[in-house]
Amino acid sequence: MAAANVEIRSPGEAVARISYLSSDVIVSVQSAQSIESEFSSHLRRYAGRKDRGLVASSESGVPEIETVRENSDPLLSVFAPIRSGKLVSVTTSSSILVLSVPHLYRLANLPVVIHVSLQPSQYPDFSSITSIRNSGFTFLQSETLQEAQDIALTAHALAIKSGKGVIHFFNAGSSARDSDLPSEDESVVKDLLNLDAVRSFQNIKIGSTDIYADNGRIATITEVHSAENGISTSMEKAEVSSISEGPINSEAPSKASSAGSSKSDRESSVDDKDSISSATTVEQTTTRPVTSDDIYNFVSTIWNQLKHRVGREYTPFQYFGPANAEDALFIFGSDVGAFKEAIGSAKSGDVYAKAGVITARLYRPWLASKLTATIPKSIKRLAVLEQIRRKTTKWGPLLLDLLTTLKSGPGGGVETIVGHQLGYIAPDAIQQALRGVFQNLKSERPIQNLEVGNSEGPSESGETELSQPKVESAYMKILDQIFGQRLYLANAIGSRDAGVSASIASNPEFGFGSLVARKGHRQRFLSEVQASTSSRSLGNDAKAALSKWAASAGDDKKLNEVTDELIALLEADQSTKSKDLLANKGLFRTESPWLVGSDAWAYDLGNSGVHHVIASGENVNVLIIDSTPYSEGAAADAARRKKDIGLYAMNYGNAYVASVAVYSSYTQVLQAMIEADQFDGPSVVVAYLPYFKENDSPLTVLQETKKAVDLGYWPLYRWNPRNDARGEENFALDSERIKKELKDFLARDNHLTQLMKRNPEFSSNLAQDYGSEVRALQKRKAKNAYAQLLEGLFGAPLTILFASDNGNAESLAKRLGNRGKARGLKTLVMAMEDYPLEDLPSEDNIVFLSSTAGQGEFPQNGRAFWGAIKDNTELDLATVNFSVFALGDSHYWPRKEDRHYYNKPGKDLDRVLANLGGKRLADIGLGDDQDPDGYQTGYQNWEPAIWQSLGVDKVEGLPDEPPPITNEDIKLASNFLRGTIEEGLLDPTTAAISAPDQQLTKFHGTYMQDDRDLRDERKAAGLEPAYSFMIRCRLPGGVSTPKQWIQMDDVSNNFGNETMKLTTRQTFQFHGVVKTKLKAAMRGINQALMTTIAACGDVNRNVMCSSLPTASAYHRDVYRCSAKISDHLLPSTTAYHEIWLKDENDKKTQVAGDAVQDYEPLYGPTYLPRKFKITIAVPPHNDTDVYAHDIGLISIKGKDGRLVGFNLLAGGGMGVTHNNKKTYPRTGSMLGYVSKEEVHIACEKVMLVQRDHGDRKNRKHARLKYTMDDMGVDVFRSKVEDLWGQQFEKPKPFKFQSNIDTFGWQKDENGLNHFTFFIENGRIEDTADFPMKTGLREIAKVHRGEFRLTGNQHLIISNVDDADLSKIKEMMSKYKLGNYQFSGLRLSSSACVAFPTCGLAMAESERYLPELISKLEGVIEENGMRQDSIVMRMTGCPNGCARPWLAEVAFVGKAYGAYNMYLGGGYHGQRLNKLYRNSIKEHEILDIMKPLLKRYSQERTEGEHFGDFCIRIGMIKETTEGKTFHDDVAEEESDEE
Ligand code: SF4
Repeated sequence: MAAANVEIRSPGEAVARISYLSSDVIVSVQSAQSIESEFSSHLRRYAGRKDRGLVASSESGVPEIETVRENSDPLLSVFAPIRSGKLVSVTTSSSILVLSVPHLYRLANLPVVIHVSLQPSQYPDFSSITSIRNSGFTFLQSETLQEAQDIALTAHALAIKSGKGVIHFFNAGSSARDSDLPSEDESVVKDLLNLDAVRSFQNIKIGSTDIYADNGRIATITEVHSAENGISTSMEKAEVSSISEGPINSEAPSKASSAGSSKSDRESSVDDKDSISSATTVEQTTTRPVTSDDIYNFVSTIWNQLKHRVGREYTPFQYFGPANAEDALFIFGSDVGAFKEAIGSAKSGDVYAKAGVITARLYRPWLASKLTATIPKSIKRLAVLEQIRRKTTKWGPLLLDLLTTLKSGPGGGVETIVGHQLGYIAPDAIQQALRGVFQNLKSERPIQNLEVGNSEGPSESGETELSQPKVESAYMKILDQIFGQRLYLANAIGSRDAGVSASIASNPEFGFGSLVARKGHRQRFLSEVQASTSSRSLGNDAKAALSKWAASAGDDKKLNEVTDELIALLEADQSTKSKDLLANKGLFRTESPWLVGSDAWAYDLGNSGVHHVIASGENVNVLIIDSTPYSEGAAADAARRKKDIGLYAMNYGNAYVASVAVYSSYTQVLQAMIEADQFDGPSVVVAYLPYFKENDSPLTVLQETKKAVDLGYWPLYRWNPRNDARGEENFALDSERIKKELKDFLARDNHLTQLMKRNPEFSSNLAQDYGSEVRALQKRKAKNAYAQLLEGLFGAPLTILFASDNGNAESLAKRLGNRGKARGLKTLVMAMEDYPLEDLPSEDNIVFLSSTAGQGEFPQNGRAFWGAIKDNTELDLATVNFSVFALGDSHYWPRKEDRHYYNKPGKDLDRVLANLGGKRLADIGLGDDQDPDGYQTGYQNWEPAIWQSLGVDKVEGLPDEPPPITNEDIKLASNFLRGTIEEGLLDPTTAAISAPDQQLTKFHGTYMQDDRDLRDERKAAGLEPAYSFMIRCRLPGGVSTPKQWIQMDDVSNNFGNETMKLTTRQTFQFHGVVKTKLKAAMRGINQALMTTIAACGDVNRNVMCSSLPTASAYHRDVYRCSAKISDHLLPSTTAYHEIWLKDENDKKTQVAGDAVQDYEPLYGPTYLPRKFKITIAVPPHNDTDVYAHDIGLISIKGKDGRLVGFNLLAGGGMGVTHNNKKTYPRTGSMLGYVSKEEVHIACEKVMLVQRDHGDRKNRKHARLKYTMDDMGVDVFRSKVEDLWGQQFEKPKPFKFQSNIDTFGWQKDENGLNHFTFFIENGRIEDTADFPMKTGLREIAKVHRGEFRLTGNQHLIISNVDDADLSKIKEMMSKYKLGNYQFSGLRLSSSACVAFPTCGLAMAESERYLPELISKLEGVIEENGMRQDSIVMRMTGCPNGCARPWLAEVAFVGKAYGAYNMYLGGGYHGQRLNKLYRNSIKEHEILDIMKPLLKRYSQERTEGEHFGDFCIRIGMIKETTEGKTFHDDVAEEESDEE
């Protein structure tokens, strides 16, 4: 351990240190993982420093700390390690003890030490100790800080000596006034522990791993008797042996222990016995259980040693006071020191002067003879003070002990023993309390059980109440949402029925009992109601309603229907009878009874209440919430692995069973709970909600859930054993992969075959159950197969490994491989992560290409390799030739101190390989994005050096390398966007489609993606990524009918991930559509008379327009124009219909429009060079960001208030590539005014000029914005006008005021109502707190107007007639949809999708921006800016889908957790922002934003917007046009200083 003799400040610290020194494993019990116990912070500190313990047998000598929550059966964690020969100790509060009784009995005969801090610390309850006093443990008590240290050490030494469990308990509050003390010297600890005995214990394994079988284990002593000259000597060995039955209390050993005893090598700790001469003796051994006397002998030895070393003395009972005292107190409670002090300073006249005080140091075993020896013979009267708060018997347990000892034993002269209940005594009331006690004691007729002090304890209790972790409340909310008033929760934590107390987790038996009682109660209530129907005291209406209700009994639906009316009538009735009945109002409804528990119930299923519930056949629903994270569960120690409650219940046969996960499928949770409620019999719903700490963010819970469900660790399913009878299948699988145990269960009854028949697309997944894939084997196989392929080739071998995240290093590696092959080399190209490291020493030539990620880290697919090699000292690379090429950006880190990150992975690898003895084929090559040709500049020198070194640089006749296939080639060869999409969709061997088809499907409105949350897990499991598709609709102007809304909702539920995204292009986007459902989803969308064609791809995309809730007629005009432009520019290919819309009979389904032959009059066969976007804004609202698009149309109103035409801007665009200054965002340039009749033609001509002049060679330079800057605005305009044959007029005046939405209700000129909902980042989904998706669907069912999606990803319910208003408002309030009382910052924010679905995302966006805003809202509020709008946007990459470059403040993902920060955008989207900080993390963002916001609140001028303010105060320079976006950025400036 690091520093010896540090000051110890608290008993928690003293105990933690001794425990750490004396254990292999410490089970640290905490009320919640996020709440430290009085021990845990110290333990973590030691472990964090990697302090070595004295006994830990691990290689590092560092003990293992296992943190366990109080309500997850903590003592269970002791069994596995202690059985494998590890010394285990537990640090805990007393609240776990009573519920751990079954474990205590089993642990009593194992050398475990449990350190118990009594709770609540100000006034602890000693009944938690007395209730378990007969569990077979040895109990030691400490009172002061010094004692806590000494007795903790005693406890460990005694456990080792005796082989038995020791509980050391103390009240931390008692030593609050003690001074700090030096930590015990390690040599003393070592001496007392007897390390030889420790090692002997560690070398044995105790056997069975089944903790549920009764092991009948008992600590024993083996005595070796030596008969020599008739004198018997003995040597004792404390051992662990087995007998056939248990449990055994060592105080009353009832079984012989010789049978089956296993001899241990563990030496006796009683080493002061005579030794035996081996030559002349005859030995006999006998084995017997450890007795109380043995414990006494052991503990005395230890205390003698302690006295010898440190001078402090301990005895089983301790007496303080004069030797001739006549009265004494025996205190079993807190703060004995205060009593001693008060007595010590008593005046001679005080009734308690000269009294003695006795306490127990060794409480169990109760050594009566030692007590009588301790108490002076002069004592006549003894007052017993017991601090027992939960009394179960009339007489306190200590009083009974003392009565037995002193009255019946040879106990001296005590004549009077009087029991008292010790309540809380404030320090200044001690004397008064003592007076009371002694007056009672000395009175003629002392009162037994007199209460002393306040039995309620001090007003503020220090007890930590067990609270339900916040995240777990999700399921409660869903139960509440579904069943409302019908819900009857038998054991909600904190409720009256929670079990033993509010501070102790509920157990199933108790809750079940309560449900059964409730059932009986209802039966009686029913009879009471029947009888009341003729009651005279009730009014007629109430009577009639009661009769109606009683007549409905048995028909739950009907009953619940008439209940509301009945209750209302009874409430109006006011009679005594009605009041009586209303006292049990809840019983009028047919309740949905639920019992809620945690996965702690899963460890001991056979014995648990879960079993009783299922076996009872009662109509009871059990919800069991499993919170073990996938990453922990998958790696769990087999001995501690939980039983699968779902499988257990299914095997039982009579129960409805469902396995659900709210963060995977909300709908499935609803369905399962409803089915469970309807099932007449026991139902078990096992629900997943994984978290590491109670304050984990929902994102962590989501990611853990996804991994668990995806890999089959937590399959989603529903099982109804009665479905068979209805001709339906019992088992419904709601996820796609199942674990082996479930598969075996299903296979047994043929359910698996049926399942596979029904869902052939699942077959491969089902056959490949979770856990059967082994990544390592796959690596080996792949490499061997490749090696075989190369066998036939001559030439030197060259292995090429790459680590790449943007594809550059990978494609360079592949090209290098091909070039090597052309030179006759045997080349092998692999990702670093796929390479078996152990093969490295046998390579001849190996080269590495690595790009640079994050803060100078390896890309994802190189990290494992680097992790394995970086500290490796074993590999011998003496015969290996290597070289490294690194790719990076020397300007990526502007701060000087960060510059070393440039190409760090490559440089590190080069160094490590050389250190391991490798020879360089060529010096490391450094590719730098800043070089004239980017990384190619460095590469062009490096590659020839490799060929030269390998002697293949002069090879003649090398073949020409084929040019890379470009998007242009793909389009041209695709036959008007067909490619091989059809064939790809039919390929069952993969969930993906080919790379060229991935480009083509974009034109059809769908992208292939893979779930980024699952990439690593799946890779590790040897699976292909979790591919799915994103589908985007084409919805001009963002207007949808209510019917279409419902149809879209159906598409998301039936084919997608149950959510919809309203996008920044005012349309619906679906995520998570797997390949097999893609066609059906497309057809669903087309059946709603929407399409997806040209929603993505190199074509004109969805045309947007302002949503304009306040002017309906004008909106209609503009909206029609957007639809007209959209239709006019639609591609004409029939491939879309052909691929997606044929039904089973090969007939096309109904769709809007159908072309006859493939001919693209506008686009031609290669379509546009890049995507093309058009938007319309209606001043003063720039809610569609008119400057950000290829064409931006600003509508112009005529004198009659109707649309007349548009000012046309062209050349706006957002996409940028990090570190590539040739790319930049640009605001559109004004071309002029055009009438509404001609606008679609003008747009067409702009598009055609771009079609013909856009850059088709470089996609990063292909957008109209670059064409326009290259050509110049005037030239561009003239080309458009030439094609058009007309001229733009001069632009008309207009004025924008903002680019955000106006939330809440607004009326239009026709008196119709419109409500703008705040939909955070456009995500429509249900959560337990907010059933938004369901609510909107319900509203769509009754709404007669329309829905409008806004360009800021929000939603407007439009055209609500006054007559419908109250109904709509009621529904909005029911589903909590009306809330827009958020900060101005939140209301003005938007984020793109990014993780997990977007393949380009470098950082989180939609899932993170809300969190970031929450962290800023404190400052906003403090500075009175809650209502102030600041436009803040975030995207996961510089593609800029949420148009970040126009925000006043923006964050653009750079790497996971790191963002570029931009400031100074115009409030209504008119001005680009500029880079302020490069690649910063959250704490840096907050460090910048918090003071800046404060400053803004204090220094802004009237009406000044945040972006303008940042420029005025010189935080950032103004960006005047796209071309100057990279100039004068703040980071470079500060760097030059
Ligand atoms: S901005 Fe980037 S990360 Fe965000 S959705 Fe668009 S492409 Fe994906």
